[in-house]
Amino acid sequence: MVVYKKRLLRNNQICEMILDNLKENGNIAKKEDLVKKLISFASLSTIYRGITRLEKKGLIVAFDVANDKYIAYIGDRSNKILNLTFFVCDICNQRFWLKLGNKKLEKIKREIKKLYDFDSKFVLYEFHGVCKNCLLSKSSNPLNLKKEEINNENSSYANR
Ligand SMILES: [Zn+2]
Repeated sequence: MVVYKKRLLRNNQICEMILDNLKENGNIAKKEDLVKKLISFASLSTIYRGITRLEKKGLIVAFDVANDKYIAYIGDRSNKILNLTFFVCDICNQRFWLKLGNKKLEKIKREIKKLYDFDSKFVLYEFHGVCKNCLLSKSSNPLNLKKEEINNENSSYANR
């Protein structure tokens, strides 16, 4: 591994490292994790400056999912669109992300272009709900109890 001296790391080097890191991670990373990986090579302000620079160049986008900050690489895709989909579990608070190459979702982009003349480069879908694991461990989770309460309310309402 190349050892960089903190003070000697130049702005374009940090940009390269940020992009390399993103590409290694399927083009997306939590900002926090990215900073943790790079902090031994550069100061926090250098890393943030690099992120801002890449954002201005249109190579990356920064966005929030359920109050966490993420960065995604979107460069080199003149015609392609990056569809990112997040599932946020409201019980265990886990986030799952997947890249969608789904034609139906591409259609949404085309509709937006038609209706509003807006050319989308990056589309972010955020779904909140219950993940597979939490659905399986039904008995001990609070949301299901809540659901039951709601159901009971409904049924008592219906019985009136
Ligand atoms: Zn869950």
